[in-house]
Amino acid sequence: MTKLIVSDYVAPIVGYRFWVWDKEIGPQLRSMQGGQPWIPRQRLQAYCVQADRETWSYIISHHHEAPDEHCSCGIYAVKSLNSPLDLRKAHIYGEVYLWGKIIEHRYGYRAQFAYPKSFVLQKGILGCLSHLVDYGVEIRDADSKVLWTPATTSSSGISSASPGAQGRP
Ligand SMILES: [Zn+2]
Repeated sequence: MTKLIVSDYVAPIVGYRFWVWDKEIGPQLRSMQGGQPWIPRQRLQAYCVQADRETWSYIISHHHEAPDEHCSCGIYAVKSLNSPLDLRKAHIYGEVYLWGKIIEHRYGYRAQFAYPKSFVLQKGILGCLSHLVDYGVEIRDADSKVLWTPATTSSSGISSASPGAQGRP
């Protein structure tokens, strides 16, 4: 049986996760296609959702606060990039701050609150860079080249990154 460790963190811990850049609704950074949007400068709070099989949508469950020990809700992150889920295949992945109630599993966490700490963008998704700077966190490409950091002004950061952003191999 898996032993769960439930903690309440005031100071954030750091995990890793991937995101989806959803051009159809938004454009917005999301947990998955159609999932919860991550808003710049705003913490993401987990809520428990249940699938409504009639409307093919998700409805918020008010049975408990998320995450819950006996449910699968919460904001997911893994402990390491070397976990069984290889995040480096995702278009956008990176570090994420987690805090509040956190349920620890073998390879990762389910958290109550989260905010991105850094992003790594694959080449095919560099067009969203100008949107992602709104989050105010460091952004690198898949070769670890810094595309933008909070220390640079947004205009110079974007212009210095633009040769790569234009799709140069
Ligand atoms: Zn739940």
